[in-house]
Amino acid sequence: MLSLADPISSLKGVGPKRVASLAGLGIETVNDLLTYYPFRYDDLAAKDLGEIADQEKVTLKGTVAADAVISRFGRKKTRLNFRLMVDEHNLVMVTFFNQPWLKDKIHTGDEIAVYGRFDAKRISLAGMKVLTSESGDSMGSIYPASKSIRQNTIRQLVEQAYDAYQETIVDIIPAPIRQAYRLESRQQMIHDMHFPADMQSAKLARRTAKFEEFFIFEMRLSIVKQQDHTLHGTTLQYDNDRLRTFISQLPFELTSAQKKVVNEICYDLKRPIHMNRLLQGDVGSGKTVVAAIAVYAAITAGYQTALMAPTEILAEQHANNLAQLFKGLPVNVALLTGDTKPKARRQLLAALSNGDVDLVVGTHALIQADVDYHRLGLVVIDEQHRFGVNQRQALREKGNQPDVLAMTATPIPRTLAITAYGEMDVSVIDQLPAGRQPVTTTWVRSNQVDHALEYVEQQLKDGSQAYVVTPLIEESEAVDMKNAEAIYERFKQTFEPQFKVGLLHGRMSNDEKNAAMAAFQANEFQVLVATTVIEVGVDVKNATIMMIYDADHFGLAQLHQLRGRVGRGNKASACILVADPKNQLAVERLETMVKTTDGFILSQKDLELRGPGDVLGKKQSGLPDFQVGDPVADLPTLSAAQEQAHRVVDEPNWADLPENQALAAFLSFTAHQVSTMD
Ligand code: ADP
Ligand code: MG
Repeated sequence: MLSLADPISSLKGVGPKRVASLAGLGIETVNDLLTYYPFRYDDLAAKDLGEIADQEKVTLKGTVAADAVISRFGRKKTRLNFRLMVDEHNLVMVTFFNQPWLKDKIHTGDEIAVYGRFDAKRISLAGMKVLTSESGDSMGSIYPASKSIRQNTIRQLVEQAYDAYQETIVDIIPAPIRQAYRLESRQQMIHDMHFPADMQSAKLARRTAKFEEFFIFEMRLSIVKQQDHTLHGTTLQYDNDRLRTFISQLPFELTSAQKKVVNEICYDLKRPIHMNRLLQGDVGSGKTVVAAIAVYAAITAGYQTALMAPTEILAEQHANNLAQLFKGLPVNVALLTGDTKPKARRQLLAALSNGDVDLVVGTHALIQADVDYHRLGLVVIDEQHRFGVNQRQALREKGNQPDVLAMTATPIPRTLAITAYGEMDVSVIDQLPAGRQPVTTTWVRSNQVDHALEYVEQQLKDGSQAYVVTPLIEESEAVDMKNAEAIYERFKQTFEPQFKVGLLHGRMSNDEKNAAMAAFQANEFQVLVATTVIEVGVDVKNATIMMIYDADHFGLAQLHQLRGRVGRGNKASACILVADPKNQLAVERLETMVKTTDGFILSQKDLELRGPGDVLGKKQSGLPDFQVGDPVADLPTLSAAQEQAHRVVDEPNWADLPENQALAAFLSFTAHQVSTMD
């Protein structure tokens, strides 16, 4: 019996060589081939001369007025000409370059159709192909081909597969969902994706194909997530009273958004499931203290915790902040980075493996092979998009199914977050602590900098501090250095000796960087000129100015991160973007920065402008390359597909229900395609 799961070699004319070429395109089964869709269509429906625009690609039908003539030119080049009588009064000259063999197909008196580009002045057609009566369809499907397999071969194989297998194409999306979203039957969808009668039916089929693609993807995620939830993880029986006391003694009251996510996390910690939760929140929304509460909960349950950050500066700052928050409590905090000296490292590793250290904060030094934990119960990953899936997994494997809390400062729409970050649950802090002073953003051109500097001076006189950031414009570090140094010199000339100016750049050693950061924090200098090393996390409440040179060289998310470094205290703050943008897109981005301070809106805009692959990082996120759907442009469809997939999976024994049988069968025979997710 035929099945869509049949290997592609079941088709006629597909031997080992073709199997290999098709595998290169990700096609292994008949289903893979039938869902290998054209990326565009040429409208091959014949038109009348009167309705054709100059340079339009069209099909003309007519009678060959005289046999084709071949002429040669240049070296080995040929031109084939013939006249086509398209109606009673009109002859069109048709030309084909370098396809002399077509001569045998074209004879005086033949009725033929030719597709090509029309030239209205000359009344001629630069021929692209001769349509035979067999390829009677009026739409030409164009497939993504490769070096080893041609367009035409793919098209012929699809035709063959469709003819042989069309009866086996059953609906896989459950009927109620198909009805609710007015989706086409799978058979019609596949037919119209490959052989649409016109553009309209191609468009309708595409709508269904997108839904199917997202739905199948979301089904797989939902299944993995459900399995994760039934998997036995660590049960962290934390001490509720001690936790409450800790929260009540924080230097501030939690926002209601923080309380909500703390509850979500604590609920997960206590359950015997394996927590895998993504904490999203705008810069400055207070994710660190939420992490601290989770850490303290785990410690009161008798477990160790590890917090991994992407940079040494950030790890050190977290270690300091957490030590501060845990002051007076029996919590032993340690710092482990690539900088930790061998002797200290040896002592620390011993303390970790015998359980003397309760919380270790560090960089990826935490996942090195010789780091053993006594009883690792919770793993916190800051700026998680900076780590690859493997690094996150490696830290997790240091314990026996520890709970995982991942934090991100590039907040993205929830639906996309769940998709991009695979099987994680998502918590969102959608509120900033009260009393935050807004950050006013202005954009100035480089010839207006003097004016901006007067403003900076004003602020410095009021006792504030300023960050000045220069971008990594060139690939070469040397050029960047020159940039940062030139600006550093300029600020020194302008403000010293009244105010002191410091410099922080990527080529300094970690000790030097930390010293510079610490000096700025202690207000030993008032202006810090830096390359983007200060991008993440750094917290200096007295800094109220963020001045960014060549701001058009940064992505929106990055600019927003930088801007988030100010406005952290109780003074009004300003972000000054210096840029002479070269194109409209850059102007648009700068204007977006000026208009909004909402990270969710900005990241949405960034995703639209740059695409999810660039914003999220393809490897880091589990986001696959969808074939027809676009997770940003088609977000509403993705949301709908996600919601429906959750509904299906939430039903007990969903795979056994009659309406889901075909879906379950389809998921199991296409299971080889999940590789993008792990
Ligand atoms: P982010 O989410 O960007 O990591 P942080 O955790 O660094 O933000 O918090 C930013 C600042 O806000 C810190 O100085 C922190 O102490 C402070 N903060 C956090 N929560 C609150 C709150 N509920 N009320 C007032 N200040 C808070
Ligand atoms: Mg943070």
